[in-house]
Amino acid sequence: MEILFASANRNKLFEARKIFGPDFTLLLPADLGFTGDIPETHDTLAGNSAQKAQFVWDLFGKPCFSDDTGLEVDALGGAPGVYSARYAGEPFNAARNIEKLLRELGDTPYEARTARFRCVVSYIDPTGTLTQFEGRCEGHINFAPTRSDAFGYDPVFIPEGLDVTMAEIPVEVKNGLSHRGKAMDQLVCHLKQNLAR
Ligand code: IMP
Repeated sequence: MEILFASANRNKLFEARKIFGPDFTLLLPADLGFTGDIPETHDTLAGNSAQKAQFVWDLFGKPCFSDDTGLEVDALGGAPGVYSARYAGEPFNAARNIEKLLRELGDTPYEARTARFRCVVSYIDPTGTLTQFEGRCEGHINFAPTRSDAFGYDPVFIPEGLDVTMAEIPVEVKNGLSHRGKAMDQLVCHLKQNLAR
């Protein structure tokens, strides 16, 4: 089955392709000639996620899904949350976001550095109906980044039960415990159930 992923993020696509496996061909809007920005102007993950999928459905009228993810840090009252991508302002990049996060946390002790990734995946089926799936991954924010060339906040996020950051584990291991893996696994199950009917 061919399905459009409403994203321009190559890191997400790399993870998603592994999660969906060989039964699905994932395409990006760019593969169909769309090179603009997909809007995300809401103040909730669910709102942004739905907006991205709806935008791509309106453009192409093909089944599509989106992913909106935020990092919620308890000691910062849930920030950066839905503003994770833009946390440190322009220019938007992971290194600046991590630097700000570590600065805001200062010397907060490890036990109080609890955080979670939350991911909302929105799927629009061939009839135009939208369904959402959510995945969470609990963990802690480390005191310093490891492998700072990795995806987003992965260099500072230590998943519960591990003693290394998400940047230090293979993608298959990350997908087995991550917010995105959990949300997209639900979508894959939903698609397989509907295809089998
Ligand atoms: P968005 O879902 O593309 O809006 O991403 C929000 C922010 O979270 C961006 O700064 C991403 O780099 C970051 N992000 C999204 N998914 C992950 C992940 O799996 N690990 C680490 N950072 C992520």
